Amino acid sequence: MGEVISPVSGKSLGEVASTSVADVDAAIGRAAAAFQRWRAVAPGDRARLLRRFAAEVDAHREELALLEVRNAGHTIGNARWEAGNVRDVLDYYAGAPERLTGHQIPVPGGLDVTFHEPLGVVGVIVPWNFPMPIAGWGFAPALAAGNTVVLKPAELTPLTALRLAELARDAGLPEDVFTVLPGAGSVVGERFVTHPAVRKICFTGSTEVGTRIMAGAAGQVKRVTLELGGKSANVVFADADLDKAAATAPSAVFDNAGQDCCARSRILVQRQVYDRFLELLEPAVRAFRVEDPARETAEMGPLISAAHRDRVAGYVDGAPVAYTGSRPDGPGFWYAPTVLLAESPADRHWREEIFGPVVSVLPFDDEADAIRLANDTEYGLSGSIWTRDVGRAVRVARAVEAGNLSVNSHSSVRYWTPFGGMKRSGLGRELGPDALHAFTDVKNVFIGTEE
Ligand code: NAD
Repeated sequence: MGEVISPVSGKSLGEVASTSVADVDAAIGRAAAAFQRWRAVAPGDRARLLRRFAAEVDAHREELALLEVRNAGHTIGNARWEAGNVRDVLDYYAGAPERLTGHQIPVPGGLDVTFHEPLGVVGVIVPWNFPMPIAGWGFAPALAAGNTVVLKPAELTPLTALRLAELARDAGLPEDVFTVLPGAGSVVGERFVTHPAVRKICFTGSTEVGTRIMAGAAGQVKRVTLELGGKSANVVFADADLDKAAATAPSAVFDNAGQDCCARSRILVQRQVYDRFLELLEPAVRAFRVEDPARETAEMGPLISAAHRDRVAGYVDGAPVAYTGSRPDGPGFWYAPTVLLAESPADRHWREEIFGPVVSVLPFDDEADAIRLANDTEYGLSGSIWTRDVGRAVRVARAVEAGNLSVNSHSSVRYWTPFGGMKRSGLGRELGPDALHAFTDVKNVFIGTEE
């Protein structure tokens, strides 16, 4: 059994059974059997079932959101968006089964066609920072493409995934097509990697565990999609709308208490506006509302656990603090938004993913310097560029090695567009029109027509 703790109160929310290896094996066996039936469901019927699943999620959006507020400490506003995102992603990929077309390729001597075949059982492994959306980005396209899914939520945040599995069943998804298996990464997650009937792992989490999963999957040439860590840059040029850049910088890093792989946790500011930017940033940081996440006004809740709060605090110890925001007293794993001044790009807080409400600021000289500093990281997930010069915006966007960039905005995730990382931030892309292909293999069939 695993105890689930509320990060808001520090109190137990109850216990969730941890799945044993024997039970994982049995569930994978059932999912493999269900695959043969699920792939044979007519595309239009599969689409209808996914739309019904989306409707069930929509009907229970508030319940799911409140569950996430309690289990993960997400603000109610964010949690509503997250449940709505699961609905939207299901609806979006419900359009796919009927459009999963191949090619007809002109060749001599016959007819050549391609098929996008489902893989089989797909294992989705989810972290604790965005339990609902990250689950949906895996299971919705996987199911739409005709695969069955076994999903492991993070140990700390299993509640919404378990509820989503019930909603799938209520929507009429056949038995064993979508199974949620809570438990330890070292037990359930590892078994997804080693079990030969699991044909693909869709993993989101730390670069350390993702690297290990990729190595493990190599033994069976198992397909992987990896969404890993980040240390994204928010690059502010002197010609930018400084008021807007400073007003939006806090939410770009402190949203979800900084426990966001896309957090813009390195702010690069052109030297001539560095002091002015820090002046403008201070009131925005101080005004950032850190409070009971169930309140409609909350902009940030607590960190996920006491251990994680200690880890985050370890990065701030001894580092030069420019200023901090506020945090409530009392129970819960609170940490105030914190702005650090980087003395050099070698600083530990500048280089490592902190995954908390801590941002580091560093000045740069010119465009080339900004690009060099932005790319001076093993990660490459996201980032923002603030400038009024269109040419520069395009040049820098092309030069920064990251999978998702925004100009004069901090948007990273839209379910219509591809999402994923370069370098050690990941492998493959989720969401967008092409995600289905990550859950299929292309099969080429040649039919001879010569007499
Ligand atoms: P984590 O790697 O510790 O755990 C992620 C999941 O993997 C959990 O479900 C865990 O139980 C499981 N796991 C752990 N060991 C395993 C093993 N040996 N085999 C199989 N599964 C195993 O990560 P976390 O602390 O839950 O999440 C935070 C990390 O996730 C951060 O680094 C963050 O940047 C990253 N993240 C990335 C994205 C993205 O899309 N790129 C999104 C969200 C989070």
